[in-house]
Amino acid sequence: SNPERERLLQAYEWTSKFFHYLLKNTEHGKPAMDYLRSRGFSDKMIDQFQIGYAPESWNTLVQFLTKRSFDLEEMEKGGLLSTRSDGTGFIDRFRDRVMFPISDRNGRVIAFGGRVLGDGQPKYLNSPESKLFNKSRTLYNLHQAKSSIRKLRQMVLFEGYGDTISAWEAGVHNGVATMGTSLTESHVSMMKTMADEILICFDGDRAGQSSAMKNIPLLESAGIRIKIAILSDGLDPDDFVRKYGSERFMSQIIDGAVSTTKFKLIYLKKNHILLEEDGKISYMKEVLPIIAALSSSTEREVYLRELSSEHKLSYESLKQDCNLIRQTMQ
Ligand code: ATP
Ligand code: MN
Ligand code: MN
Ligand code: MN
Repeated sequence: SNPERERLLQAYEWTSKFFHYLLKNTEHGKPAMDYLRSRGFSDKMIDQFQIGYAPESWNTLVQFLTKRSFDLEEMEKGGLLSTRSDGTGFIDRFRDRVMFPISDRNGRVIAFGGRVLGDGQPKYLNSPESKLFNKSRTLYNLHQAKSSIRKLRQMVLFEGYGDTISAWEAGVHNGVATMGTSLTESHVSMMKTMADEILICFDGDRAGQSSAMKNIPLLESAGIRIKIAILSDGLDPDDFVRKYGSERFMSQIIDGAVSTTKFKLIYLKKNHILLEEDGKISYMKEVLPIIAALSSSTEREVYLRELSSEHKLSYESLKQDCNLIRQTMQ
């Protein structure tokens, strides 16, 4: 094995334990603990996800790693430290942040996501890519979720740390997060070996919903079944659990996840003023080709009947338009 890699893994493990200790057992960690409590993070989740605190200091981690004989240049390359701007040495990279350790699929810490307490910028500071951390191959929480994913043959996909953690507490033990990045081919091929179905549960804001929309073709072309959870009012899954509770999250959001076709119908509604004739017609022009592209006539009928009753249009005329579109498609 690679000794530099091993040393870096060792350093990440020590650092993660150190940050967790500082959060839970010291005065320095108290504001971070208060922040987490105010957001509804339980002690149980703080332990299970090894959440920590990087203190407001330039050299606490520098000293900690020095004492344990780690090479500081190596630690800088590995993303734990930064270089002083005048080039005279090293400083802590993460300062005054809540720390979410990111693990590989075997549960070894390979990176951190660090959140500012409150409203500062940047909201999250993540570890850079390193010998250990390749963002496009990593899914947050995969190590804890993998057994449940394999058992259920289903993976739930979130955007953020807090979403994954709140959903875990609500009962979703097959949830992982992309950490804000878009899905990559290597994410998808990894998913395919573990699951037959992906339930996308992204934020209910425009960014989250459009990124769900964008990920559909990538997953579909890999032959993975997709379901999509519908969140609205700009809430993310974490917000939803805090606001409405675990039970409603499980029954309404997770169990209520819809097909990609249904999701597209809902998503595209926002672009049209459906109370006006023009809006209704332009909406139909946008969604009928989606329905026409479905190969199953049963499926087409289901969605056409839904459209018909929701928008008070005759099923017959929708079906006729749909068939016309199908003819041009062949
Ligand atoms: P919170 O609830 O703490 O405000 P969030 O997880 O809801 O955070 P989002 O803005 O929805 O935050 O972003 C989703 C995810 O994207 C984050 O959990 C994080 O992994 C990643 N992310 C967000 N902002 C940044 C950033 N500035 N740099 C790096 N990663 C980021
Ligand atoms: Mn978001
Ligand atoms: Mn969010
Ligand atoms: Mn959030």
